Amino acid sequence: MIKYLIGLLCALVGLTIYIWGPASIGISITGMAAKQRLGQSLTQGLEDGLHLLLCGAGGPMPDPERSGPCVAVIAGTSLVIVDAGSGGARNLNAMQFPLGEIDAQLLTHYHSDHIDGLGEMALLRWVSSANTAPLPVYGPSGVAEVVQGFNRSYRADAEYRNAHHGDNVAPVSGRGMVARPFIAPQVGELLTVLEQDGLTVSAFAVDHKPVQPAVGYRFDYRGRSLVISGDTAKSTNLEQFAKGVDLLVHEALSRELVGQLNKAAIHNQLPIIEKITTDILDYHASPVEAAESAQTAGAKHLLYYHIVPPLLAPGSQAAFLQGVDKAYQGGVTVGIDGTLFSLPANSQAIEQTRVP
Ligand SMILES: [Zn+2]
Ligand SMILES: [Zn+2]
Repeated sequence: MIKYLIGLLCALVGLTIYIWGPASIGISITGMAAKQRLGQSLTQGLEDGLHLLLCGAGGPMPDPERSGPCVAVIAGTSLVIVDAGSGGARNLNAMQFPLGEIDAQLLTHYHSDHIDGLGEMALLRWVSSANTAPLPVYGPSGVAEVVQGFNRSYRADAEYRNAHHGDNVAPVSGRGMVARPFIAPQVGELLTVLEQDGLTVSAFAVDHKPVQPAVGYRFDYRGRSLVISGDTAKSTNLEQFAKGVDLLVHEALSRELVGQLNKAAIHNQLPIIEKITTDILDYHASPVEAAESAQTAGAKHLLYYHIVPPLLAPGSQAAFLQGVDKAYQGGVTVGIDGTLFSLPANSQAIEQTRVP
């Protein structure tokens, strides 16, 4: 009976394609999908609380599941993005994140993988809601130069869009970004950089030498808290300011897996890759070191992001996590693009899902 029904269904589908043709079917499915998706917002269904969405879970190396570093934080009605790696803004768009409502972009440091999607972030925020004020970009010293460079690069684009779509879509006053620099906090200092509607965002120094300044950020909202490490070697300063947080979002580089790349570079006589895969070991934390920091800080959950190298081979995630269970007693998640954590206001709950 089931075989008969499947046969009948296949015949019907075949007949439909024969009569209408694949192009007509493609057009009507696109129309139906657009009706369902356009105008929907990811944040509409979220309860009041602190939420964290990975728009980019990777580092600088290509990984199909992990774009360049990009983290979206939703706190009540406030939307803040931390770093803007390539692919991040497009991912947010695909995840139906309301890009036009972004209040602030924060930067941890100015390595290319953290800023190479910044132009697109500002552009999509601008035209998604016809914003009349530019995107504020917060960062330690150096942010003004980054912002100025992007603004110059995008000046012609902004003029084309305004000329083509008009002020109701692309008002000139809202194009580009505006820098909001702060003096990088010293070790031991927690600097409030943003306060609005119950949300407090603070910056603290991390250890990414020779990259200076480099900061991480702490978010507090209605009894819930999270810390985003940015790029750092194991940092006691981070541990201090991550004390008791609900969620620690920490970068990690697996020395064992990068070591395999290094061996291959030596074997294949690729001295540049050999040098890079040696140099990067000293300014990132290993997964076990990040877990030790989570344990020392008493963080309730550890989320890995900025994962290096890409975890492509079968078993590579197990290799990445080797030894983590001995170092940290809390819950652990290896992030991918779309990982979403929700910390409902004034509760203990830690909810985790994935935005498709
Ligand atoms: Zn990085
Ligand atoms: Zn970096």
